Amino acid sequence: MKVLVTGGAGYIGSVVAEELLQAGHQAVVFDNLSRGHRQAVPKNAELVVGDLANRDCLDQLLRSRAIDAVMHFAALIEAGESMKAPEEFFRNNTANALTLLEAMLAARVKRFVFSSTAALFGDPERTPIEEDDPVHPTNAYGESKLLVERILAWFHQIHGLRYASLRYFNAAGASRPDKGEAHQPETHLIPRILEVALGRAEHVNIFGTDYPTPDGTCIRDYIHVSDLARAHLLALEAIENSSPLIYNLGNGQGFSVRQVVEVARKVTGHPIPVIESPRRAGDPAVLIASSEKIRRDLGWQPRFPDLKTIVESAWQWHRTQPDGYGRH
Ligand code: UDP
Repeated sequence: MKVLVTGGAGYIGSVVAEELLQAGHQAVVFDNLSRGHRQAVPKNAELVVGDLANRDCLDQLLRSRAIDAVMHFAALIEAGESMKAPEEFFRNNTANALTLLEAMLAARVKRFVFSSTAALFGDPERTPIEEDDPVHPTNAYGESKLLVERILAWFHQIHGLRYASLRYFNAAGASRPDKGEAHQPETHLIPRILEVALGRAEHVNIFGTDYPTPDGTCIRDYIHVSDLARAHLLALEAIENSSPLIYNLGNGQGFSVRQVVEVARKVTGHPIPVIESPRRAGDPAVLIASSEKIRRDLGWQPRFPDLKTIVESAWQWHRTQPDGYGRH
């Protein structure tokens, strides 16, 4: 298939683009490079620099490249930031996704794989979280993605769109020593910790120590980026036969912020000083996935479920490429 990968210059999208190529598909990356990096795009993928808000550009692209399927990664992702400027998240994540879906409808492209998020669930009523559990986001980021899931359900029902929505828990790790996470600014826990180990920051802030968890810090389910990528390929194949497909993606095991810091101390041999800080707005206390459904339906199995392995792979990337992809 010829797959349009929006956000394919970003952390997860670029790994998926590479896996698509390895599986014999073609990948056209569409990215405005506001957060992504030209160097992250696989060599055999075409890169089109453009913005999702530009409907004409999308119309032209979908038709001229005879796109068969769209994988949509391009989005703003910092949950904390979404509680300061929600409008940017609804514009970039929700409105732009609608523009993309309208362009797909006009070009008769019927296959869509969506980067969704555990942030849909807010403070879950039970753990691990299953796909049909109630959704009530506690931050605008989660709401901006939930709105897209709702649009997708209507597009499926009314226009016959075939889609998969993959709800990532905490994507982490590096697929190769020269391919990893490089957000600007970086807000995610593991890279922030590793910046300290690299000597680029003096300490890491722990956002909130009074959560109702055993050590008072938030618990998350970290999943290796290559395991996430694999799920996208399985989903792309599976929507031919069954749609919609909605899956939670995690390892089913939660680690507190303090536990992640401890693992990183072991991996790096650095003391990694911490400063206990106030809570970050909108953070749920505990997010742990049940991924039984995708295991059962598609035979997905994480290859790197161990947190130490995940942190080691991230550390290799940050150590060998301390400047990430540079400024591009
Ligand atoms: N966190 C933290 N210090 C940081 C960055 C994150 O304590 O410098 C916490 C954050 O509050 C959350 C967890 O680590 O509880 C994971 O945050 P991250 O931003 O990596 O991912 P999110 O869960 O928001 O998608």
